[in-house]
Amino acid sequence: MADGIQVTIDREECIECGVCWNECPEFYEMGDDGWSQVVEEYRVQDSLAHGEAPANLEECVTVGADGCPVAIIHVGG
Ligand code: SF4
Repeated sequence: MADGIQVTIDREECIECGVCWNECPEFYEMGDDGWSQVVEEYRVQDSLAHGEAPANLEECVTVGADGCPVAIIHVGG
């Protein structure tokens, strides 16, 4: 996973619209608190807000981030 794509979600600003987890359920999901989070498989150090996506999910995580109406998903690295 060293070459993974870094993804960070500013969870506390999530408005629970569901765009990200509908666009890319392989990587994003709704947390118990209603906010978007990284699915367990791709979390970094068990963080709900920070994950590493494999290359084959790059387009998926990017579409989800671009679709976020409050632009709180950051993809890069
Ligand atoms: S698209 Fe943005 S606001 Fe909507 S659920 Fe995902 S992180 Fe939250």
